Amino acid sequence: MESSSIIHKTASDLRLAPNLGDYEAERRVFSWAAVSRELADQPQGALNIAWQAVDRHAASSLRGKAAFRILARGTPTHFVTYGQLSALTNRFCNVLRDLGVGKGERLFILAGRIPELYIAILGSLKNGTAVSPLFSAFGPDPIATRVNLGEGAVLVTTDMLFERKIAKWRDRMPSLKHVLLVAEDGGTTAVPGTLDLSSLMASASDACEITPTTAEDMALLHFTSGTTGTPKGAVHVHGAVLTHWSTGRYALDLHVDDIYWCTADPGWVTGTSYGVIAPLLHGVTSIVDREEFDAERWYAILQDEGVSIWYTAPTAIRMLMKAGADIAKKYAFPRLRFAASVGEPLNPEAVWWGKQVLGLPFHDNWWQTETGGIMIANTPAFDIKPGSMGRPLPGVEAAIVSRQADGSVQVIEAPNKEGELALKRGWPSMFRGYLNSEERYRKSFSGEWYLTGDLARRDADGYYWFVGRADDVIKSAGHLIGPFEVESALMEHPAVAEAAVIGKPDPIAGEVVKAFVSLNNGFEQSEALRMALLGHARTRLGAAVAPKEIAFLTQLPRTRSGKIMRRLLKARELGLPEGDTSTLEAGP
Ligand code: AMP
Repeated sequence: MESSSIIHKTASDLRLAPNLGDYEAERRVFSWAAVSRELADQPQGALNIAWQAVDRHAASSLRGKAAFRILARGTPTHFVTYGQLSALTNRFCNVLRDLGVGKGERLFILAGRIPELYIAILGSLKNGTAVSPLFSAFGPDPIATRVNLGEGAVLVTTDMLFERKIAKWRDRMPSLKHVLLVAEDGGTTAVPGTLDLSSLMASASDACEITPTTAEDMALLHFTSGTTGTPKGAVHVHGAVLTHWSTGRYALDLHVDDIYWCTADPGWVTGTSYGVIAPLLHGVTSIVDREEFDAERWYAILQDEGVSIWYTAPTAIRMLMKAGADIAKKYAFPRLRFAASVGEPLNPEAVWWGKQVLGLPFHDNWWQTETGGIMIANTPAFDIKPGSMGRPLPGVEAAIVSRQADGSVQVIEAPNKEGELALKRGWPSMFRGYLNSEERYRKSFSGEWYLTGDLARRDADGYYWFVGRADDVIKSAGHLIGPFEVESALMEHPAVAEAAVIGKPDPIAGEVVKAFVSLNNGFEQSEALRMALLGHARTRLGAAVAPKEIAFLTQLPRTRSGKIMRRLLKARELGLPEGDTSTLEAGP
């Protein structure tokens, strides 16, 4: 395929004048103060994401318009208008108040993409309570680790997830004061030690004065993974709404009449920033599909719902490609006018495939949990170079830098040189801390630069190209997985002496988690033990995080200082040169 060439923008590609017409000109005149003026003035000089996203529209001509169309197999589409969303989130806010839950406390949500997930996120924000949505495919270990790190006071979940993943482990989460349950069959629940959310909602008032929050008040807590230690809780503030708004405008080209579908689950940062907040800010109708990936179903949704803007991820695109273009030919997408992708490198073939099969190319964009919003993107304003992540958005200063021995960084001005991707601090959705980990936070900056941990290069036209991660963190099906969390769960098994985890390249998921383990005395390598360890990891971690492969080693390679050399295991796995092994401990 023509993977190295450019996809030129032509007038016929654009069915609507894009929000970003002239990239260079917009970057020159852009200011965050001007974005702030675009958002409506909130009473009492406050700034609250939920007010901007919901109540502002509920008080306008958009009141009766669907904010969400929630789809599920075998049930009619569930429509939620901006007016209803405002009233329901008011009720949820009042439920929290009635329980004595206040500003600054943390609420966790563990649920599939049910209406209550969206209501709880936005209702909490109205109460000034910080929200952390968790991925429902997490097992009990990742859930408890995150609730404890975040000192969660409230957990909203369903009766079924509670029974499977919380009930037995609740003692491990002492900060939890209230567990609010949603009945998956749509009725009510009566589980000892929990409260039934539907009954509380029914008796709460649907009028509420939002708790005044400022731009610097904590709004969202998203966990991300590092190479070592526990997951990191990235703290985001209400002021992030400026980035959500401007990136929805420039990178996703949201116009008020769009039907928009973000396929990410709100358990991951993309699903919150772009599956909940940004589309509401622009007053569009969002499609939410409660089901898992299914090629035929996805094409049918794009067609039948008349999706005009689609934001998805490389793993999903590769799965569609694998399913074959013939399936797509059964459908037509006349309303689709912009498709974007995020989360992992998007192969040039996938960009072209979009053009051939959907009629328009995928626009890759780049960001991460810490940035809170899209930073670098292929926008409608310029040609696409397939394989590139695009150019920094207005309001974002990016650079390729090299870290110096004294902790400072040097900006690499010359094009096409590999280095670390850095962003100049100060964009509104920049994370404000790693929860309880000031040192870690401090170390991710050098002077005015935030260091992303990604390696990249910038070409002479200012396009950024992803090279790889600077650390051992694994990206599997778009999810960032910390090796330490997986290794710790494996080591809880009595047979395991040591564990090391790497990302093994995979044609669909990008990488899959592969674990190497050495066994304690008294345990023998066997297929039965391997299956038992896979099962153990899956039960503890959940399917999204658990290793797909486990190999036995008599001893793991370590440095003389005792650190497991994951890099060496990876090089051996891939048959690549082993690099510098001078610090390798004598052994295998
Ligand atoms: P997360 O914090 O889970 O959203 O993961 C962020 C990481 O995903 C980034 O630091 C990159 O390593 C990777 N990533 C995100 N978007 C892209 C992209 N467009 N191309 C390549 N890698 C990406």
